[in-house]
Amino acid sequence: MNLIFLGPPGAGKGTQARILAERSGYRQLSTGDILRANVLAGTPLGREAKPIMESGGLVPDDLIIRMIAAEFEGGGPFIFDGFPRTVTQAQALDNLLVRKRRSAVAVLFRVDLSVLIDRLTGRWTHLASGRVYHERYAPPKRPGIDDVTGEPLVQRPDDKEETIRTRLAVYEEQTAPLIAYYDDPADPRLVSVDALGPIDTVTRELVALIDGNGDERRAAG
Ligand code: ADP
Ligand code: AMP
Repeated sequence: MNLIFLGPPGAGKGTQARILAERSGYRQLSTGDILRANVLAGTPLGREAKPIMESGGLVPDDLIIRMIAAEFEGGGPFIFDGFPRTVTQAQALDNLLVRKRRSAVAVLFRVDLSVLIDRLTGRWTHLASGRVYHERYAPPKRPGIDDVTGEPLVQRPDDKEETIRTRLAVYEEQTAPLIAYYDDPADPRLVSVDALGPIDTVTRELVALIDGNGDERRAAG
């Protein structure tokens, strides 16, 4: 079963996706990481996406959907992290899932807006790998240095407070409608976790949820 991590920027989706990918054999598919890799490499997609990402807006659906369709060929199960972000993207993902006879459950990260600015302004990122740290909640062993490669960490240009506010408004307007999309009474596919607690508490809740879902599926045959 594939998982779709849904929630505002800073909710902890990437952090948890990486932990589960390491522990449970999921493949993390982060559209933000793929876009940043393209920006870094200066590809045509990266050149088109860069100013949009820096302003806090969303990259056009057709570019994102093409990107995901290519990755989807690689086999799963996937954790979709930061995708879908619009109803159009969610419909495109559903088409891909149907074509491959696969299913997905959306996991909503429930979090108060009040913690997001603090999480994002304190976030430090290793751009090449997508690993993230927080200067207080998940510090690297040496400040400003990636634990694995020893390379420098950076603060993302869109993690400035002003841009964060734009991203949160974009989330409310374009992405929050996906909660109702996945909570459709005719075909409910939404579960949620409390994402306010410490990182390992959220991981435990997620693991219990995924195991529970697996048990139900086994019980249902
Ligand atoms: P998202 O992928 O949802 O935008 P991240 O996983 O990058 O969010 O997390 C945003 C920041 O908050 C990072 O600096 C991360 O280290 C930190 N963080 C993630 N989860 C928690 C948590 N449960 N408590 C405190 N800080 C967290
Ligand atoms: P993220 O790493 O998920 O915080 O995404 C960073 C930025 O990349 C977003 O603010 C958007 O500009 C862009 N982006 C990432 N994923 C998507 C997506 N699914 N659709 C549109 N834009 C995206």
